Amino acid sequence: MHRNVWYPFTKVKNNPEPLKVKSGKGIWLELEDGRKIIDCISSWWVNIHGHAHPEISKAISTQAETLEHVIFSNFTHQPAEDVAETLARLLPGDLNRVFFSDNGSTAVEVALKMGIQYWQNRGEKRQKFIAFNNSYHGDTFGAMSAGSRTIFSDVFSSHLFDVDFVDYPSTWQGDKTVAEKEDRIIEQIEKLLEVSPGEYVGIIIEPLVQGAGGMNMCREEFLQKLHWVNRQYDTLLIFDEVMTGFGRTGELFACRRAQVQPDMICLAKGLTGGFLPLSVTVCRDEIFDTFNSDDPMKTFWHGHSYTANPLGCAAALATLKLLEKSQDRIKEIENKHKELISMFTEKKYVKNVRITGTIAAFDLITKDKDGYLNPVSDTVKKYCVDYGLLMRPLGNTIYLMPPYCITDSELADVYQKLNLLIMDKLMNN
Ligand SMILES: *Cc1c(COP(=O)(O)O)cnc(C)c1O
Repeated sequence: MHRNVWYPFTKVKNNPEPLKVKSGKGIWLELEDGRKIIDCISSWWVNIHGHAHPEISKAISTQAETLEHVIFSNFTHQPAEDVAETLARLLPGDLNRVFFSDNGSTAVEVALKMGIQYWQNRGEKRQKFIAFNNSYHGDTFGAMSAGSRTIFSDVFSSHLFDVDFVDYPSTWQGDKTVAEKEDRIIEQIEKLLEVSPGEYVGIIIEPLVQGAGGMNMCREEFLQKLHWVNRQYDTLLIFDEVMTGFGRTGELFACRRAQVQPDMICLAKGLTGGFLPLSVTVCRDEIFDTFNSDDPMKTFWHGHSYTANPLGCAAALATLKLLEKSQDRIKEIENKHKELISMFTEKKYVKNVRITGTIAAFDLITKDKDGYLNPVSDTVKKYCVDYGLLMRPLGNTIYLMPPYCITDSELADVYQKLNLLIMDKLMNN
């Protein structure tokens, strides 16, 4: 480990040396020692079009020669306006007001603050949120509060605000109890809202797929039911699409796949194709309108030095352009996943096979407890590079989330290699 670098999500003691990456091209990463590996997880889910995509890098370099950055209060610029306009066009309904920031956690913080202040601007003092068990919304305090309590947040638990958690109706191939699960959870939410209707700011959810919580997948029907409840009880529905956005779930956004219009949506990760940190929180006109006032108490006093960075916006515009052309390929990847994953479906050490869009996942059955701390992930991380793969299982949950430029034969190759790794390293000892 480098003596001056402190790595994220990494134990300091007894952790294997990080692998030094020299370059990237498409799905491939080249390590300093010359080995080449396939990026099966899009580098923490950000890289949607492949590494070093020429159109995105060109857009950034052209922008850098024109305007690298400028203050975004009382000043504006074309790339930001174009990103906002494009997103408003691609998002459903009147999700028209785009607030920029620079990472997913912050996009969530903005949504939480905006939600609280929305009710305040309407003369209501609402404090609470409903969120889901196993959810992950980021590592800042608000985002941590809205996220499921885990060992990551344990040290800080006394500093987190109270949230009411309900189960996420996780489902998988052949799950016969899913509708029952959904109804039970919806009932629970209704009960909370019924007991104290004026108390809840909103409901925050990772729609269709919970990422860091273990690639848990739910049905579109659940989001439709949730939307209905949310309307009945007049509270805000916040979609954290930081991971599910930009084609991951098979449509441009999970909300479009489920045909549900949330009141706010948080986007980051894929927004710049994995090139630069940029994020947005987009809200409906009705929310924005409550901030339109002479009263300074009704202003949203929030911003960051790099808000709407023009380089990030240029990368986003190039990414979105590529994305509109990738729609068919994204659907093909989903079909290919469905075909290829059958090689694991019948295995006796595999359970809960599930696919949504370009994300495929299953859980390994081990002698240890299910979940993030299951040591099987360390074994996979240790050996995957030997098999030419970059993978990062979430405990005993194995998942693939490749860039969209992966070909059918490359994806088939990934499945074969993964199968070999599991057979060689996990099942024989
Ligand atoms: C990654 C992630 C975040 C946090 O985004 P960062 O850019 O890592 O801060 C928030 N929500 C979801 C659903 C995520 O997957």
